[in-house]
Amino acid sequence: MPKQTTEIIAIGDELSTGQRLDTNSQWLSNQLTNMGLTVQYHSTVADDVNAMIDIIRVANKRSNFILVTGGLGPTADDLTREALARAVDQPLVENSEALQHIISLFKRRGRKMSPNNRKQALLPRTATLIHNSEGTAPGVDIIVTSRENSVRVFCLPGVPAEMKSMFKSHVVPAINQDIPGTPRITRHYVLKTFGMGESNLEHELPGIFQRDRIPVVGITASHATITLRIQVTAASEIECDALAQPTIKEIT
Ligand code: AMP
Ligand code: MG
Repeated sequence: MPKQTTEIIAIGDELSTGQRLDTNSQWLSNQLTNMGLTVQYHSTVADDVNAMIDIIRVANKRSNFILVTGGLGPTADDLTREALARAVDQPLVENSEALQHIISLFKRRGRKMSPNNRKQALLPRTATLIHNSEGTAPGVDIIVTSRENSVRVFCLPGVPAEMKSMFKSHVVPAINQDIPGTPRITRHYVLKTFGMGESNLEHELPGIFQRDRIPVVGITASHATITLRIQVTAASEIECDALAQPTIKEIT
């Protein structure tokens, strides 16, 4: 399987100002990595339409898949749809399926729909909707093809429960369908050492932290404990174990 590069864009002033921790990106990264994809970038962007357009355009040039969370609500600070449409040079068009979903959700809940909610049915012209069974904000799925690259962008709501459910029901099958060959999984093996310094460890284990080594080994230090993380991608858990074992043995 060729390397499938992925990036995550978290939208919201509450994140960029540090008021709230971006837990969506952590959760998504974990899921995507475990599916065998390579997550190369995380970006956190304020509710600023120009900043959002910039980051989407940059991401479109360098990644195969982009996951955007947040900014799909009905209020004036929810700008993801507009930014996406402008970034890919498409008009926003009212999607009748999305509108029906929003109208029926308000009916079911016995609440009056405000005119702002209609905005949540707007999607870039060639986008399709991602059904949201838990809230009003439909997600957006769009394939953007340019001369250099083809990228698939998924926009999901910021609300973690909605984001997770739509990721599992729509994004996972969509990505698995797009990637040729058998699905791959990634496993992490963690070894902890105590007492030895990072540079001593590297000296004792020549070449083990080279970035192009397979499997790749990461190192993090916290007080006197050093953690080595072996990351392996293969077709099954058994294959991952087999690939990791020689490295585990060498380190041990
Ligand atoms: P939004 O979809 O931007 O209207 O956000 C709805 C709710 O989800 C707000 O309470 C946000 O604080 C929360 N939220 C948005 N993005 C994230 C994120 N990346 N991590 C955790 N919570 C988030
Ligand atoms: Mg927001």
